[in-house]
Amino acid sequence: MKILVINCGSSSIKYQLYALDNKHILAKGVVEKIGMKGSFLKHEKETGQKVLFEGEILDHKIGIEYILGVLSSVKHGCISSLDEINAVGHRVVHGGEKFSESVLITDDIMESLLKFIELAPLHNPPNLKGIYALQLLIPDVPQVAVFDTAFHHTIPKHAFMYAIPYALYKKYGIRRYGFHGTSHKYVSNRACEILGLDPLKTKIISCHLGNGASACAIKNGQSIDTSMGFTPVEGLIMGTRSGDIDMGAVAYIMDKEKIGTKSASTLFNKHSGLLGITGISSDSREIRDAAEKGDERAILALKMFDYRIKKYIGSYAAAMGGLDLLVFTGGIGENSDATRYGVCEDLEFLGIELDQDLNKGIKMEERIISKAGAKVKIMVVPTNEELMIAVDTQNIVNKITKN
Ligand code: ADP
Repeated sequence: MKILVINCGSSSIKYQLYALDNKHILAKGVVEKIGMKGSFLKHEKETGQKVLFEGEILDHKIGIEYILGVLSSVKHGCISSLDEINAVGHRVVHGGEKFSESVLITDDIMESLLKFIELAPLHNPPNLKGIYALQLLIPDVPQVAVFDTAFHHTIPKHAFMYAIPYALYKKYGIRRYGFHGTSHKYVSNRACEILGLDPLKTKIISCHLGNGASACAIKNGQSIDTSMGFTPVEGLIMGTRSGDIDMGAVAYIMDKEKIGTKSASTLFNKHSGLLGITGISSDSREIRDAAEKGDERAILALKMFDYRIKKYIGSYAAAMGGLDLLVFTGGIGENSDATRYGVCEDLEFLGIELDQDLNKGIKMEERIISKAGAKVKIMVVPTNEELMIAVDTQNIVNKITKN
């Protein structure tokens, strides 16, 4: 079965075409700078050979046309006709309280998804644009929505509620939803698979550390808490997002700077985090370089980043009544031995003991990095949200073809 996985952002579309019979990627790529000058499609064939197409990609529909065109082209493609695509799986950021698992997209489902635009105004609209474009271009192909929020549906009410007037939860759905669910689910299951552990009997903390970052407490195979909340701005310190902050400080800043909600949202989502503290970059590599040259704010930002993760690990170990497995993923989690060291330092009392040699070096591969015999196993597991989306899509399509 061939499954096209689509991840639409505001100005980009990432895609992968899977032959799922052998978990094989036939082609992948990205359309970038949609609606801007210099838009392009970067396509990578199975052989690793890359091709670049520049053009006026004015909107998501044109972007999808480019993708379908290159996938089925004689020279660069990997399918002889679009009929070979059996299904499309879409990453959809917000599924609200309604969707606890992936769903086949129907007209009713589209109506529900439209309602969640209010909850995720930055993320859901481009996701929907991708769905509309594919419905138009290959109308007979089933499409599936896979939600970032779905894995966190098991978080109990005492953990997902905010202590605000209950009426606001009922009226507007103000609660913790959590994001990165597909990634937390994938890396926690994969780590258990590698270690031969039963996920249903394992207490896991997974740390997805990329430009966006979140931690998740997974007990007996279920997410029981996560650091992102009503929106992806809460929790850990991120590339440009503040993470946890006293709302009293938010109100004070808005008052003093005379800014409204829109500017405040931009301030805490786009100008804060590592970028805000350092004034250098949101990219942890550039900050690490500056720190090595003695830049004090870069040193501070990295310490704050690690410290915040450490606090979440402590609180989640308490929430689960113990810890068996700690997993690092995402661009920073997979690559930065220094971050993993900074996070794990002084956590021996919890049974977290990093093996310095195993931890060392930049290699994006699955591996155990804890000391032999340590109580808590520590692993690096590169995330693979696309594979999860493809597998969920296949399972749903198989179900409908059987019925
Ligand atoms: P996104 O959340 O956008 O998917 P990624 O998971 O790609 O982001 O993570 C981006 C982050 O990963 C950046 O801060 C980048 O500096 C960091 N990163 C990528 N490669 C390395 C590396 N080799 N060493 C340290 N950090 C890295």
